Amino acid sequence: MTGAGPGPVADGALRVVLLGRQGSGKGTQADRLASLYGVAHVSTGDAFRAAVKSGSSLGRTAQAYMERGELVPDEVVVAVIREHVFGPASPPGFVLDGFPRNLAQAEALEDMAAPRGIDVCIDLEASVDEVLRRLSSRRVCSSCGATYNLVSSPPKVPGRCDVCGGTLYQRDDDTEEAIRRRLEIYEAETAPLIAWYRERGLLASVDGTGSADEVTARVVSAVEAHRARPGPGAG
Ligand code: AMP
Repeated sequence: MTGAGPGPVADGALRVVLLGRQGSGKGTQADRLASLYGVAHVSTGDAFRAAVKSGSSLGRTAQAYMERGELVPDEVVVAVIREHVFGPASPPGFVLDGFPRNLAQAEALEDMAAPRGIDVCIDLEASVDEVLRRLSSRRVCSSCGATYNLVSSPPKVPGRCDVCGGTLYQRDDDTEEAIRRRLEIYEAETAPLIAWYRERGLLASVDGTGSADEVTARVVSAVEAHRARPGPGAG
């Protein structure tokens, strides 16, 4: 499906970080990469939304930050990643979607992932205009978390999830005000990680426009190119 070069090897060992603005398609591509390579899709945003829904103490801590479009404190997020991704029973591979979000989190990840490190950091590129268009028409399944776009990938039955039949809703933080705040934080805190990963030879920038299949083909090519290289992240 990549068009050229070797295809994915589902050996369960791939370690990827996905960067990109909100609405750049990280969730969709992370899901696809995780199933192609047989690794876990870890979304800190999904983990927090599930915690809010369950009313746990983690959820109560995260909720106020999320509603304002602010970042949940680093120590809370890092503890979630440490437990779920680097716990004693955690599998070796992962696709991280929404973590790290700032330099402190990137450094914490570098420590936790040592000595093997990660294979590649994919920066999914989509302009502010493009993501604003996508976010305002984004809908999410309240049961399984599948995402839809009312314009480019609508559900077959309006308001219902194609996968599980759950009800679709608009995220509380997909309001204009919260979107603006989240994009500001992305530019100020997360975008500098692009240079940080580039300096480490781990960055691959991928055009996030076009169909989901086209973007997946580009992402897989970038992953394969990095995996083929010798170096600390090449396993
Ligand atoms: P997302 O679904 O990735 O857009 O995340 C939704 C919200 O969860 C964010 O706006 C933050 O409030 C919170 N969140 C998710 N990941 C992180 C993270 N790595 N660091 C801090 N807050 C996060």
